[in-house]
Amino acid sequence: MPSPVRKFTMAAISNSLSLKQGPSLRTPLTGPHSSSTSSLGFRTIHRRCYAAFSNENREYVIVGGGNAAGYAARTFVEHGMADGRLCIVTKEAYAPYERPALTKAYLFPHDKKPARLPGFHTCVGSGGERQTPEWYQEKGIEMLYEDPVKNIDIEKQTLTTNSGKLLKYSSLIIATGCTASRFPEKIGGNLSGVHYIRDVADADALILSLEKAKKVVVVGGGYIGMEVAAAAVAWKLDTTIIFPEDHLLQRLFTPSLARRYEELYQKNGVKILKGASIKNLEAGSNGHVAAVKLGDGSIVEADTVIIGIGAKPAVSPFERVGLNKDVGGIQVDGQFRTSIPGIFAIGDVAAFPLKIYDRTARVEHVDHARRSAQHCVKALLSAQTHNYDYLPYFYSRVFEYEGSPRKVWWQFFGDNVGETVEIGNFDPKIASFWIESGKLKGVLLESGSPEEFQLLPKLARSQPPIDKAKLQNATSVEQALDIARESLQVEAAV
Ligand SMILES: Cc1cc2nc3c(=O)[nH]c(=O)nc-3n(C[C@H](O)[C@H](O)[C@H](O)COP(=O)(O)OP(=O)(O)OC[C@H]3O[C@@H](n4cnc5c(N)ncnc54)[C@H](O)[C@@H]3O)c2cc1C
Repeated sequence: MPSPVRKFTMAAISNSLSLKQGPSLRTPLTGPHSSSTSSLGFRTIHRRCYAAFSNENREYVIVGGGNAAGYAARTFVEHGMADGRLCIVTKEAYAPYERPALTKAYLFPHDKKPARLPGFHTCVGSGGERQTPEWYQEKGIEMLYEDPVKNIDIEKQTLTTNSGKLLKYSSLIIATGCTASRFPEKIGGNLSGVHYIRDVADADALILSLEKAKKVVVVGGGYIGMEVAAAAVAWKLDTTIIFPEDHLLQRLFTPSLARRYEELYQKNGVKILKGASIKNLEAGSNGHVAAVKLGDGSIVEADTVIIGIGAKPAVSPFERVGLNKDVGGIQVDGQFRTSIPGIFAIGDVAAFPLKIYDRTARVEHVDHARRSAQHCVKALLSAQTHNYDYLPYFYSRVFEYEGSPRKVWWQFFGDNVGETVEIGNFDPKIASFWIESGKLKGVLLESGSPEEFQLLPKLARSQPPIDKAKLQNATSVEQALDIARESLQVEAAV
């Protein structure tokens, strides 16, 4: 770990350089004054020479210590611009980690080798180095843990944390992610035994509940609900998943695709209540959650309830930086610059131009968190000027624990618009192709081989014209993928 003196010196030197973003800053050394009178009768002013700011590394500050922050830190290191210059301030007690693990291997029962930190610090999710707290120290990156930023003074380029620390920045990257949407308190959203899952502390609390649980209700049929329900049955718990839509993952799955997954969940012991609204969560005499009351008045008993009903971008206290009213989050351009010079936003919280579909989007998926972080830091530190050109990619993995009858892993690339063609019987694999105006727009593959998965982004990026009738007649997923691959070649030849 470099000495604080060295770090301070480097920060001062680099801050005095003209930076690409935002005005340069100097470290103010003035503090409160005190006075005394010398033996010669002169009044001497003693100036306490201390820095008013709590962060030694003041050139670059990242607020938020999640997925995007971890990948941003790596990119700073790759450019030789981390040591003594970068400070990360985070609400959590942990160095950045691969958040998706929390509803996957983290929730495995104790006898099925659950994942624990430091095992899944960023950037292991993409095959990179495991950046432990020691890694940040070695790289001269200043980490401020468990101290959320509460205020920003845009004019003075300062931040104030919950504990009252005043931080200075020259360039600021907002990487605050999302917070889990909650049920209101008046319908039981804060009862003991009711869980939301966004960070390690939430996952640890859920595990304590699962250890004692008998009846689990999962509210929400999206990614989080599906992953948590799959985990709960691994604990051999009576598990019901409840959601208002007609089928699982309505945002992406077609009804027919969802039916395959629903059958698999039921085979694994998960009960499914669809098209059901929640009236309220009811407490037992001990104040702990005891049941879920549905809109039709029926009751589902539960001692543990997990709510997975979506997330909201964590924009506070950065509202003045400029929000997007349609998709939420902080508006940025193709290089993740906000409307304020020197302030950037990345990951879940950023509303960015999704160039490929010519619309503004916010993407709450880890691939975008990683890529946006890398793109933003490169644009900040190097001559890179091209705009971010993201291809939407979502994935999920369920029933992966040891002894599971079937491990399931799907990937989706592109846009789920237009009509669909579904090929395969799900066992052993299935593919779904989205076609609009004769062009292939999106593709989902379940249980593909690595080579097959590699084809998907090429297809979704090129959007080749495709012969729908030919695709529909494919007798296997392999054949359907061959037809799609050929359409790529035909397009390239034209
Ligand atoms: C349980 C779970 C499972 C997921 N599974 C998948 C998956 O299978 N596939 C997939 O593609 N995506 C998945 N995601 C989404 C993915 O994890 C996110 O897209 C990704 O973490 C976003 O990275 P981020 O850095 O923008 O935000 P985050 O990783 O959420 O990090 C934000 C950080 O900022 C901190 N913070 C917030 N406000 C402040 C503040 N004011 N001051 C300081 N710190 C602050 C937070 O505490 C947090 O540490 C999952 C998400 C969750 C919660």
